[in-house]
Amino acid sequence: MVASSAADRVDLAALGWDLSTVGELDHRLLKAPSIKLRSALCGINGDVVFGVDLRIRRPNAGEYLSATELHSMEHFLLAGFRRHLPAHFVSVGIMGCRTGFYLAFLNEGRARTICGVLEKVLTEIQAATTVPYARIDECGDYVNHSVEVVRELAREVSAARPAWLDAA
Ligand SMILES: [Zn+2]
Repeated sequence: MVASSAADRVDLAALGWDLSTVGELDHRLLKAPSIKLRSALCGINGDVVFGVDLRIRRPNAGEYLSATELHSMEHFLLAGFRRHLPAHFVSVGIMGCRTGFYLAFLNEGRARTICGVLEKVLTEIQAATTVPYARIDECGDYVNHSVEVVRELAREVSAARPAWLDAA
Protein backbone atom coordinates (compact mmCIF):
# COMPACT_ATOMS: atom_id res chain seq x y z
CA MET A 1 0.00 0.00 0.00
CA VAL A 2 1.55 3.28 -1.12
CA ALA A 3 0.10 5.23 1.77
CA SER A 4 1.95 3.14 4.33
CA SER A 5 5.14 5.03 3.51
CA ALA A 6 3.54 8.16 4.91
CA ALA A 7 1.46 6.57 7.65
CA ASP A 8 4.15 7.14 10.26
CA ARG A 9 4.23 10.86 9.62
CA VAL A 10 0.69 11.63 8.46
CA ASP A 11 -2.34 10.77 10.57
CA LEU A 12 -4.67 9.75 7.76
CA ALA A 13 -7.59 8.97 10.09
CA ALA A 14 -7.34 12.48 11.54
CA LEU A 15 -7.61 13.81 7.98
CA GLY A 16 -11.00 12.12 7.78
CA TRP A 17 -10.24 9.00 5.76
CA ASP A 18 -11.53 5.54 6.50
CA LEU A 19 -8.23 3.67 6.85
CA SER A 20 -9.77 0.47 5.50
CA THR A 21 -10.24 2.19 2.13
CA VAL A 22 -6.81 3.86 1.90
CA GLY A 23 -4.43 2.57 -0.76
CA GLU A 24 -5.09 0.19 -3.64
CA LEU A 25 -8.19 -1.94 -3.18
CA ASP A 26 -9.75 -4.90 -4.94
CA HIS A 27 -11.68 -3.14 -7.69
CA ARG A 28 -14.58 -5.56 -7.30
CA LEU A 29 -15.29 -3.90 -3.94
CA LEU A 30 -15.28 -0.28 -5.04
CA LYS A 31 -18.45 1.77 -4.72
CA ALA A 32 -19.32 4.82 -6.76
CA PRO A 33 -19.61 7.75 -6.82
CA SER A 34 -16.95 7.86 -4.12
CA ILE A 35 -13.78 9.60 -3.01
CA LYS A 36 -10.89 7.69 -1.49
CA LEU A 37 -7.29 8.37 -0.55
CA ARG A 38 -4.94 6.30 -2.68
CA SER A 39 -1.60 7.60 -1.50
CA ALA A 40 0.14 10.09 0.77
CA LEU A 41 3.76 10.56 -0.20
CA CYS A 42 6.05 12.49 2.14
CA GLY A 43 8.97 14.41 0.72
CA ILE A 44 12.25 14.80 2.57
CA ASN A 45 11.29 18.31 3.69
CA GLY A 46 7.96 17.25 5.14
CA ASP A 47 5.69 18.21 2.26
CA VAL A 48 3.05 15.64 1.44
CA VAL A 49 1.51 14.83 -1.94
CA PHE A 50 -1.93 13.26 -1.65
CA GLY A 51 -3.33 11.06 -4.41
CA VAL A 52 -7.12 10.92 -4.35
CA ASP A 53 -9.40 8.77 -6.49
CA LEU A 54 -12.71 10.27 -7.55
CA ARG A 55 -14.59 7.19 -8.71
CA ILE A 56 -17.76 8.06 -10.58
CA ARG A 57 -18.83 4.69 -11.89
CA ARG A 58 -18.35 1.18 -10.51
CA PRO A 59 -15.50 -0.75 -12.14
CA ASN A 60 -16.35 -3.50 -14.60
CA ALA A 61 -20.07 -2.82 -14.38
CA GLY A 62 -20.66 -1.68 -17.95
CA GLU A 63 -21.32 1.87 -16.73
CA TYR A 64 -18.38 3.61 -18.35
CA LEU A 65 -18.26 7.36 -18.79
CA SER A 66 -18.40 8.60 -22.35
CA ALA A 67 -15.46 10.44 -23.88
CA THR A 68 -17.41 13.70 -23.67
CA GLU A 69 -18.41 13.16 -20.03
CA LEU A 70 -14.81 12.46 -19.07
CA HIS A 71 -13.44 15.34 -21.09
CA SER A 72 -15.80 18.11 -19.99
CA MET A 73 -15.77 16.96 -16.35
CA GLU A 74 -11.96 16.91 -16.44
CA HIS A 75 -11.98 20.55 -17.57
CA PHE A 76 -14.40 21.60 -14.83
CA LEU A 77 -12.43 19.75 -12.15
CA LEU A 78 -9.23 21.39 -13.36
CA ALA A 79 -10.72 24.89 -13.36
CA GLY A 80 -12.62 24.44 -10.10
CA PHE A 81 -9.92 22.87 -7.95
CA ARG A 82 -7.40 25.40 -9.29
CA ARG A 83 -9.70 28.25 -8.30
CA HIS A 84 -10.68 26.95 -4.87
CA LEU A 85 -7.36 25.37 -3.79
CA PRO A 86 -4.75 27.36 -5.72
CA ALA A 87 -1.90 26.61 -3.30
CA HIS A 88 -2.64 22.90 -3.01
CA PHE A 89 -4.18 21.49 -6.18
CA VAL A 90 -1.60 19.79 -8.40
CA SER A 91 -3.48 18.01 -11.17
CA VAL A 92 -6.43 15.98 -12.40
CA GLY A 93 -6.22 12.99 -14.70
CA ILE A 94 -8.72 10.71 -16.37
CA MET A 95 -8.76 7.04 -15.38
CA GLY A 96 -8.11 5.05 -18.52
CA CYS A 97 -10.85 2.59 -17.53
CA ARG A 98 -13.32 5.49 -17.88
CA THR A 99 -14.74 5.12 -14.36
CA GLY A 100 -13.30 8.23 -12.74
CA PHE A 101 -10.49 10.72 -12.15
CA TYR A 102 -7.18 10.96 -10.34
CA LEU A 103 -6.70 14.09 -8.24
CA ALA A 104 -3.41 15.20 -6.69
CA PHE A 105 -2.90 17.73 -3.90
CA LEU A 106 0.16 19.21 -2.20
CA ASN A 107 -0.16 19.55 1.59
CA GLU A 108 -3.95 19.28 1.55
CA GLY A 109 -5.31 15.88 2.42
CA ARG A 110 -8.36 16.64 4.52
CA ALA A 111 -11.28 14.58 3.26
CA ARG A 112 -13.81 17.20 4.34
CA THR A 113 -12.03 20.00 2.50
CA ILE A 114 -11.63 18.01 -0.70
CA CYS A 115 -15.26 16.86 -0.61
CA GLY A 116 -16.37 20.43 0.09
CA VAL A 117 -14.52 21.78 -2.91
CA LEU A 118 -15.86 19.02 -5.13
CA GLU A 119 -19.37 19.86 -3.98
CA LYS A 120 -18.77 23.51 -4.91
CA VAL A 121 -17.42 22.58 -8.33
CA LEU A 122 -20.42 20.35 -9.03
CA THR A 123 -22.78 23.16 -7.99
CA GLU A 124 -20.95 25.60 -10.24
CA ILE A 125 -21.37 23.21 -13.16
CA GLN A 126 -25.14 23.49 -12.74
CA ALA A 127 -24.93 27.22 -13.45
CA ALA A 128 -22.25 27.07 -16.15
CA THR A 129 -23.04 27.94 -19.74
CA THR A 130 -19.65 27.02 -21.22
CA VAL A 131 -16.94 24.46 -20.49
CA PRO A 132 -13.68 26.02 -19.21
CA TYR A 133 -10.52 25.88 -21.32
CA ALA A 134 -12.52 24.71 -24.32
CA ARG A 135 -11.07 27.02 -26.95
CA ILE A 136 -9.01 25.65 -29.80
CA ASP A 137 -5.86 27.21 -28.33
CA GLU A 138 -6.49 25.56 -24.92
CA CYS A 139 -7.68 22.03 -25.64
CA GLY A 140 -6.61 19.10 -27.81
CA ASP A 141 -10.16 18.16 -28.87
CA TYR A 142 -12.04 21.36 -28.34
CA VAL A 143 -15.21 20.30 -30.17
CA ASN A 144 -15.66 17.30 -27.87
CA HIS A 145 -17.41 19.10 -25.00
CA SER A 146 -20.94 19.38 -23.70
CA VAL A 147 -22.26 21.50 -20.86
CA GLU A 148 -25.52 19.58 -20.89
CA VAL A 149 -23.86 16.20 -20.58
CA VAL A 150 -21.52 17.29 -17.79
CA ARG A 151 -24.37 19.01 -15.94
CA GLU A 152 -26.29 15.74 -15.84
CA LEU A 153 -23.18 13.92 -14.63
CA ALA A 154 -22.58 16.54 -11.92
CA ARG A 155 -26.15 16.04 -10.71
CA GLU A 156 -25.58 12.30 -10.49
CA VAL A 157 -22.40 12.72 -8.43
CA SER A 158 -23.94 15.40 -6.19
CA ALA A 159 -26.89 13.18 -5.38
CA ALA A 160 -24.50 10.63 -3.89
CA ARG A 161 -22.78 13.20 -1.64
CA PRO A 162 -23.70 11.51 1.70
CA ALA A 163 -21.99 8.31 0.57
CA TRP A 164 -18.87 9.73 -1.09
CA LEU A 165 -16.50 8.55 1.64
CA ASP A 166 -18.06 5.09 1.74
CA ALA A 167 -15.71 3.95 -1.01
CA ALA A 168 -15.71 0.19 -0.52
ZN1 LIG B 1 -9.43 19.21 -23.33
